[in-house]
Amino acid sequence: MTLAAQSETLLEASAEDSRPPEVQAAAVVLAYLDNTQLAVRHKAFEVLKELATQTVARALEGKSIHITTLNLKTGVAPDIAKDPSAWLSPHWARLIEAEKEWREGMIAAARRERSEFIPRLEKLQGNPSTYRILADPLPHEGAPEPVSLVPQGGIYYTPESITAPGAWLSKALNAGIVPWTAAARWSLMLTVMTGLIAVLILAWLLLYFGIRVTRPLSPADVTTVFVFLMLIAGVASVFRFFGELFDLRIVMAPSLLTPLSKDNVTLELRPSTVDTAGELVFARYTSTCPICNASVELFDGGKDFPGRIVGRCRRSAREHVYSFDHARKIGRPLRESAS
Ligand SMILES: [Zn+2]
Repeated sequence: MTLAAQSETLLEASAEDSRPPEVQAAAVVLAYLDNTQLAVRHKAFEVLKELATQTVARALEGKSIHITTLNLKTGVAPDIAKDPSAWLSPHWARLIEAEKEWREGMIAAARRERSEFIPRLEKLQGNPSTYRILADPLPHEGAPEPVSLVPQGGIYYTPESITAPGAWLSKALNAGIVPWTAAARWSLMLTVMTGLIAVLILAWLLLYFGIRVTRPLSPADVTTVFVFLMLIAGVASVFRFFGELFDLRIVMAPSLLTPLSKDNVTLELRPSTVDTAGELVFARYTSTCPICNASVELFDGGKDFPGRIVGRCRRSAREHVYSFDHARKIGRPLRESAS
């Protein structure tokens, strides 16, 4: 927190557009990490934060922005008695893996920071190996969404696409995005319809043999009926789920489809536009609670906020509740006491 605060002060002190691209990209990293709080939860992201902080500090001092393994380890884990490269290599691998998931969030952070650049990580093999943040130009969209102002006492959400392990569904899920093609639509419909037909056949069998039974009812019969009712409930919830997804465009993803370590994931249907084809996207939106500084994650609104998805703070989940505006990526406080 102190490092981020320091670097923020340094950044504000410098002129807006005259900062070198790499410094702007590093500032985007810090803004992204600040709102998502990833650096608090994962060591690998703490390494990323250290890399960005050192990049900014060194660039402002006019030094090289190639950061060595030892620099990073000294900044993050000075007390661990381990060879620096052995210590760093799993964290670095995790960051490279996460790069494709954070792209959308870094673009959003860059827009909010009015930066022209987004970060890309690079490792230069050598003796010693060095690491740096490269600056890629912000991709230009035809008509980018305007950055929404954060409401009084409210928050803004940072998106992150999720590698869904629903990878059993398709290889395309590797980046958390499924092209919403005719083939995808048909295979989904076939799956749902097969489930429905199976339940209907079961219902028919149950009735057909049920009315022929003359002996008294046994506990096994009750179990059969119970299992059948469970199946009906399952099929009904699948229909309700897809109904909501197609009507409302965003739902909380069922945990069956998302990795256990990554709950609070939404499933979005992004319609096709002039630029892109339609997509099914697994995404996670996070923010930082302005009241207590803990991370905010998305939940189904439940009984308190029916029909809505809300952001709840991890520290005071019942009181620090925020709305979730999917289009504008902002939220206002929903509890009066919280405002
Ligand atoms: Zn809170």
